[in-house]
Amino acid sequence: MKYIGAHVSAAGGVFNAPANAAAIGATAFALFTKNQKRWSAPALTDEVIARFKAACQTHGYRAEQILPHDSYLINLGHPETDKLEKSRQAFIDEMQRCQQLGLIRLNFHPGSHLKQLSEADCLTRIAESINLALRHSDGVAAVIENTAGQGTNLGYCFEHLAQIIDQVEDQSRVGVCLDTCHTFVAGYDLRGPQACEQTFAEFERVVGFDKLMGMHLNDSKTPFGSRVDRHASLGQGEIGWDCFEYIMADPRFDGIPLILETTDPSLWPQEIAALKGFAGQ
Ligand SMILES: [Zn+2]
Ligand SMILES: [Zn+2]
Repeated sequence: MKYIGAHVSAAGGVFNAPANAAAIGATAFALFTKNQKRWSAPALTDEVIARFKAACQTHGYRAEQILPHDSYLINLGHPETDKLEKSRQAFIDEMQRCQQLGLIRLNFHPGSHLKQLSEADCLTRIAESINLALRHSDGVAAVIENTAGQGTNLGYCFEHLAQIIDQVEDQSRVGVCLDTCHTFVAGYDLRGPQACEQTFAEFERVVGFDKLMGMHLNDSKTPFGSRVDRHASLGQGEIGWDCFEYIMADPRFDGIPLILETTDPSLWPQEIAALKGFAGQ
């Protein structure tokens, strides 16, 4: 079974996200549990939590179909102590919000070294941040997203993901989310079945599909290997439909949230329907 959806709006309250997902025919969704451009947010009240859980039940979403995303401000590999501390506190808060909502995963970008740390030291720092967050939460897995490799962002190669995971104490609560746009612009080809075969074989070798806890399905406006992150609607970028057809037919992508972050939300119902078609659902 493929769980297919999009990163939907939670404007007005997290409890609005499930209905927004249902309205586009989604069987999965992503959301921010707080304003992603701010450091802090009011705590979730019992009422908000209850309304979110009720809405998920009404629309038929279980925790394994939902992939929350953390704030863009957080840098778990920050070279400066005070800023690292701020990021870690914010990340712990995000993990605890997920836990309160009954969710089991939190998707985040690993972090950036800002030219002040070596890649290896920054990856270790990120792993330590994850360990800290796992100690201060329960039942929620930290899901590391691969990146396009813009600026000093780490996580642009599978080895980075593996190096972080290797240093995490609780292996049952760490995983990865592969973003197809990021994968492609970082230099892993996805144009056509053969390229997909090769790229995912490499992923299996370096990280392993047992660690795959979600996917972001995006085409790319920018060329292969450009390391510039610009999402495009499916079939309207440099990757093309073949990749998404390949993923939908491959059982290694069953049972995890497959999330569109494509640029034109008005196309989401069609994109989801097309993906479901490829999956034979
Ligand atoms: Zn992301
Ligand atoms: Zn993404």
